[in-house]
Amino acid sequence: MNCNEVREALSVANEGAPPEVAGHLEACAGCRAWAAGLAALPARLAAWTAPALSDSFEAKVLASLPSTRRTPRWALVAAEFLIFALGSLAGLGAVWVFSPGRPTGVRPADPAALGGGGDLADFVTGD
Ligand SMILES: [Zn+2]
Repeated sequence: MNCNEVREALSVANEGAPPEVAGHLEACAGCRAWAAGLAALPARLAAWTAPALSDSFEAKVLASLPSTRRTPRWALVAAEFLIFALGSLAGLGAVWVFSPGRPTGVRPADPAALGGGGDLADFVTGD
């Protein structure tokens, strides 16, 4: 077995590595040191504590995030007001257009006003 095969076998085997591994470890100082480091790893991990975060850590993380452009509150209120105003104007316009008493600008012809008593047919034909 070469060193890589021995280290892989030691990494995978919880107990009882193949007999060839023991023979390699007796002859290879590098693999013995590696195996000792592997054996000490659980104790080192258990003793490890996470480093304390600096006071500015949260601010730095938040500052590093991409900004999300949000519509300002005042713009939403202005848009709501504008929509409401336009809707109200449209409603008032509809009421005015369909109101029965509204002057339409089109009045029936008054024959008396069109030539002193002339006939409407004369007015239409131009006679
Ligand atoms: Zn080796």
